[in-house]
Amino acid sequence: MDLRSYIRDVPDFPKPGILFKDITPLLADPSAYAYAVAKLAAHYATRPVDAIAAAEARGFLFAAPMALELRKPLIPLRKPGKLPFQTHSYKYDLEYGSAELQVHIDAIAPHAQVLLVDDVLATGGTMAAACKLVEQAGGKVAGCAFLLELTHLQGRERLAGYDCFSLIQC
Ligand code: 5GP
Repeated sequence: MDLRSYIRDVPDFPKPGILFKDITPLLADPSAYAYAVAKLAAHYATRPVDAIAAAEARGFLFAAPMALELRKPLIPLRKPGKLPFQTHSYKYDLEYGSAELQVHIDAIAPHAQVLLVDDVLATGGTMAAACKLVEQAGGKVAGCAFLLELTHLQGRERLAGYDCFSLIQC
């Protein structure tokens, strides 16, 4: 199946000059969505993974079905003020301003191998922050999985030292 045909290019979103990769056509096709999740999960079926984590919101769309397929715990990484229990927190810089991700203090067992998942790898800033948060919480990063990698943005270089896997490159 050619998953590329389920990704729509939207020019000038969210601001002029950005060509946004819209994954909603893939989500709208159960066969394509199931195929993508199965392929991502299959890549990790024989690798050491104790839990699957993702930053909100689009990461959840792939992490949740992968966690069910691989029968692993799902760990949400969330923006401040969303998680009800005590949290670890990691602040990071964006192009304009800063952002923060949080995880419950009891979500990650010591040294647990955590697979991180997101829909798109662009500059790698979001995934790098997710990796740092997992490590701060006592876990290890088992890998970083993406539906789509925008290779020209070289996010993979920002994630040097982590094992990255993407299903589609463009
Ligand atoms: P990065 O931090 O790697 O620059 O950006 C990746 C994050 O921004 C991901 O969480 C992803 O959901 C979102 N993102 C950035 N560019 C795109 C895009 O073109 N399409 C989609 N669907 N998400 C994007």
